[in-house]
Amino acid sequence: VKKKAGAYARQADRIAQAAVLGAGIMGGGIAYQSASKGTPILMKDIQADAVELGLKEARKLFGKQIERNKLTVEQMAERLSNIRPTLSYGDFDGVDLVVEAVVENPKVKGGVLAEVEAEVSEDTIVASNTSTISISRLAEHLKRPEQFCGMHFFNPVHRMPLVEVIRGEKTADAAVAATVAYAQAMGKTPIVVNDCPGFLVNRVLFPYFGGFSLLVEQGVDFQRIDKVMETFGWPMGPAYLLDVVGMDTAVHAQAVMAEGFPERMAREGKTAIELMFDNDRLGQKNAKGFYAYE
Ligand code: NAD
Repeated sequence: VKKKAGAYARQADRIAQAAVLGAGIMGGGIAYQSASKGTPILMKDIQADAVELGLKEARKLFGKQIERNKLTVEQMAERLSNIRPTLSYGDFDGVDLVVEAVVENPKVKGGVLAEVEAEVSEDTIVASNTSTISISRLAEHLKRPEQFCGMHFFNPVHRMPLVEVIRGEKTADAAVAATVAYAQAMGKTPIVVNDCPGFLVNRVLFPYFGGFSLLVEQGVDFQRIDKVMETFGWPMGPAYLLDVVGMDTAVHAQAVMAEGFPERMAREGKTAIELMFDNDRLGQKNAKGFYAYE
């Protein structure tokens, strides 16, 4: 056992360079968090605009810390320099751990995971920030499933302490240990969970969104539901939370959950959340969701 623990520590110690695929809400947040806690990170997207937006968000968050006198301008410059934006896989061969954070679509994720695996070295850990898709299922796209696991952050990344580390059927213990250590280095609280659609948190959250959606479809005012849940003691209600999550992400995740748990999650007809998505009301990301944003 001792020998094993030593091996874990060696592997865990070596997350000296990270990378994130996707510079959206989550990818940008992961890059910020890693950079702010001192682990350099490459941030890759396929769109220059997205990379710009991810960097802008990071600058904004560092700026807030300066306002609160928690950071100097020099420290901000140093931490920002830990984020290296890119549109290509150049330099990925020196990466110890990659977090995939592209759209919640099994096909797109499968393609991106296979693509990045070919660019990194053999002992690089590849992790997915998927909200719902089974890790063992995504692993089918990979040649080295033992080096693959889930690393599920919550939104907004800089504020939410929890990270689910998901062990797929073939994930090696060393990959889990290194991912746990990286989450801790980022100042987060990791929990290791077994694999299934939605893992732990979203198995609770998505039925809740489903219940909210049914009420709205029955004509209950969403603002009243939010108010009631806030009065109940939750920091925000489901409509506001859906705006934060993004309607596109919620719709994709809902489909994965319905496929995984048809008896609990499948629905006839469109849900209120799908109707929002169809009407391009994506939430905070395009400034219109259940609520309107500046
Ligand atoms: P998003 O739409 O904000 O960002 C996705 C980004 O991926 C976009 O910038 C897009 O250009 C980029 N992308 C698409 N294909 C790519 C490719 N081939 N290579 C590199 N980049 C590519 O989405 P998001 O909300 O950040 O979600 C990303 C992932 O994180 C999803 O799997 C989602 O389920 C998960 N997640 C989301 C939340 C949330 O609250 N939004 C919470 C936890 C986990």
